[in-house]
Amino acid sequence: MTVTPAPADTERWISASQRVTWPHGMLIDGKIHESSSTNSWTPLSPRNGEALPSVASATDMEVDLAVAAAREAFNRHSSEPGAWSTLPPKERKHLLLRFADLIEEHQEELAVMISLEMGKAADEALNIELRAVLATYRWYAEAIDKQVDEIAPTDADHLALVTREPIGVVGVITPWNFPLTLSAWKIAPALAAGCTVVHKPSELTPFSALRIAELALAAGIPDGVLNVVTGLGPSVGRKLGEHPDVDALAFTGSTHVGRAFQHYSADSNLKRVWLELGGKSANIILPDAPDLETAIDVAAWGIFFNSGQMCTAPSRLIVHRDVADQVLSGLLDRANQYQPRDPLAAGTLMGPLASKERVRDVLSHVRNAEADGALLQTGGIPAAVIDGGSYFEPTIFTGVRPDSRLAQEEVFGPVLAMITVDNEQEAVTVANNSKYGLAAGLWTGSLTSAHRISRELRAGTVWINCYEEGDLSVPFGGYKLSGNGRDKSAHAIDKYTELKTSYFAL
Ligand code: NAD
Repeated sequence: MTVTPAPADTERWISASQRVTWPHGMLIDGKIHESSSTNSWTPLSPRNGEALPSVASATDMEVDLAVAAAREAFNRHSSEPGAWSTLPPKERKHLLLRFADLIEEHQEELAVMISLEMGKAADEALNIELRAVLATYRWYAEAIDKQVDEIAPTDADHLALVTREPIGVVGVITPWNFPLTLSAWKIAPALAAGCTVVHKPSELTPFSALRIAELALAAGIPDGVLNVVTGLGPSVGRKLGEHPDVDALAFTGSTHVGRAFQHYSADSNLKRVWLELGGKSANIILPDAPDLETAIDVAAWGIFFNSGQMCTAPSRLIVHRDVADQVLSGLLDRANQYQPRDPLAAGTLMGPLASKERVRDVLSHVRNAEADGALLQTGGIPAAVIDGGSYFEPTIFTGVRPDSRLAQEEVFGPVLAMITVDNEQEAVTVANNSKYGLAAGLWTGSLTSAHRISRELRAGTVWINCYEEGDLSVPFGGYKLSGNGRDKSAHAIDKYTELKTSYFAL
């Protein structure tokens, strides 16, 4: 899995980082809106602690303006300029495809922006995140003019049409770990379905969200269809959550904040609330895994990729005792390859955590694990890579008790909890012993065990003999406190549409 650094590419990323033009203001009704707010913050790049331009936190009035612009755009009739919800789907498709083409033209700029905002390796921002973003916009653009409605089998004296209509104005609230992909998983199906959007990105990643919305405008997506308000969660996120003229909220983030969104909805207009939340995913390795070395490679990649800041990170490795020593020694070898490096260096497999707060938080999980009796095998400390940066060593614990804090709490960092079990049934019991249910992995050569165990695992996605594989055609989302509803696939369109029955007497 080690990639040999290619200095020419490092120079390319450094030079791209020096050419970044940071967007400013917000994007409301097709215009850059310079905020009147006196409230602002200054994001610090986790690469080296350097201050990025300061960002205004939208006032209540500015959130109202963005929602009003989205409502006005939603209500435009197909005969008016700037119509969206009433456009024939194939016209929305053409505009979304043009948008994707512009993202592709600007993908290097977007990749380096993300890398500086939240620390993802620039290579991975380009090759993994931007590729997923493009695939998402293109998939929903192509899907939307192939949806057909229903005629119900009523009696001969009646005709019943069951049609899908766009739900209206959608508030999209997103985190920083995959800032453009996770927002695309919501914005793309919402726009394709004919909805209009107000996006509030994470306070760590406002710039890439603004830049991509500028590209949407440049592609010809009408004013007011995609608006971006920047700001802090408890003020701007909350205002959007409680807004009486927002019809649905699509949220990705922590379980704690997801719960708040259900309150916002209950206390306002009962808007639909779709939640993609935290996880503590189990990855089970049985002794008959078809290729143990691949299982070890993928277990290491899964927990250290994106510095472990993945909702699906396989952070609980549940290993059968017969192969536990081999797995541990393989993991310790692999951990060396993930020593954190400059995210702009070519071949970096693990950059910094997203912020100094993340380093403090991960460190507190490490201390709790030690206090609960787990054995630290490697890492467990911040790493000095670039002065002012937020780097953390790849960390592995063994002897983790299934009910201990490290096995139960989401760390959202490069910290693996290894739990040893004696048989398949114990593996399943330990895997399901979690309040979360986002994903799980399973490594076995037995078709029968694979089917039986994947049925028993309470998780939205079960990967068998792989992990983090995906395709736009399959749904993604969680059981239990990992959320509700599904992103990706045609099922996601359900979240942004209402079903209407029109019943005719003939
Ligand atoms: P977060 O919940 O702190 O923030 C997410 C968004 O909510 C941000 O835009 C933030 O500004 C906003 N917010 C914060 N507090 C708010 C409040 N009180 N009211 C309204 N809005 C508020 O999450 P994060 O730290 O940005 O991301 C990490 C979390 O996201 C982890 O728990 C991770 O598992 C989860 N996540 C889930 C998925 C998934 O698909 N299930 C994907 C990625 C991340």
